[in-house]
Amino acid sequence: MDEFQCPCCKKIMLHPLLLQKLKGLRYKLAKPVIITSGYRCPSYNLEVGGVKSSYHLLGMAADIYVPGISLTSLLKFAEEIGFKGIGSYPERNFLHLDIRPTRQARWQG
Ligand SMILES: [Zn+2]
Ligand SMILES: [Zn+2]
Repeated sequence: MDEFQCPCCKKIMLHPLLLQKLKGLRYKLAKPVIITSGYRCPSYNLEVGGVKSSYHLLGMAADIYVPGISLTSLLKFAEEIGFKGIGSYPERNFLHLDIRPTRQARWQG
């Protein structure tokens, strides 16, 4: 999962449960799931304006898009897979998915 590396330092942290769920999504959709942001080290997270408590810092979040499928249907599939945090960014056409241990969160960016 090279696409999961931090773009600035190539470090990688990927929680096994996140990997499992992303694979589940890939399997369900039978389409490639493109990861636009995976692990972020603290300095890169700062650079891209991520929040301090971002799950990207823990390898527990991924920003994804899937060519040929609407964000609305992608969101439905992500809910079925059981991602707890789901942020939808229609303007840039991607979903943020995370496996936060707390209760479910939904937002639109
Ligand atoms: Zn980095
Ligand atoms: Zn994200």
